[in-house]
Amino acid sequence: MDIDDVRDDLSQVLYSREQIDERIRQIAAEVDRDYEGKDLLLVGVLNGAIMVMSDLSRALRSHCEMEWMAISSYGAGTASSGVVRILKDLSVDLVGRHVLIVEDIVDTGLTLAYLVENLRARGPASVEIMTAFRKPEAIKNKITVKYVGFDIPNQFVVGYGLDYAGKYRNMTGLGILDPKVYLQE
Ligand code: 5GP
Repeated sequence: MDIDDVRDDLSQVLYSREQIDERIRQIAAEVDRDYEGKDLLLVGVLNGAIMVMSDLSRALRSHCEMEWMAISSYGAGTASSGVVRILKDLSVDLVGRHVLIVEDIVDTGLTLAYLVENLRARGPASVEIMTAFRKPEAIKNKITVKYVGFDIPNQFVVGYGLDYAGKYRNMTGLGILDPKVYLQE
């Protein structure tokens, strides 16, 4: 699905497919350089990270393994609590591995802070974070993200793996969802 297919649902288009593609390629080049000669394991967080994982891994010039985790925040609130439950865990041992967590978006970073701590306890050689998008809260909370695609405004965005009620995940670019879409429900 392209941005134009749902243009009326967006209050603003932030990034086109091409802009995202170009930025992910730049990051892949950095990752290639930084992890040269190292055994890289990409850990994607389901479901949002599917697009960025797919693009980043294919833009790399070197080998990488890919693993997935599924986590959910406790509680029904919309605000992130930082207390998370692992719904699907990794199927590999992390001892001595160089782990790069691949995320769609970092908002408060609370979910990620838990994940990093959890993975660090498993004895990896290193744990770093790559995210396609980052909101201002993450910067305020001083979450250390090694690779950031784009810093975006504090608005609810959809596309490139990010959904609203299960929809827009397959939209190619990134846009701000017009409040009329969720206020009319
Ligand atoms: P955090 O723990 O960093 O506050 O929460 C991060 C998670 O919240 C993301 O993985 C994503 O699932 C969700 N999230 C945060 N901001 C947005 C947004 O603007 N759009 C969508 N679709 N999900 C978001």
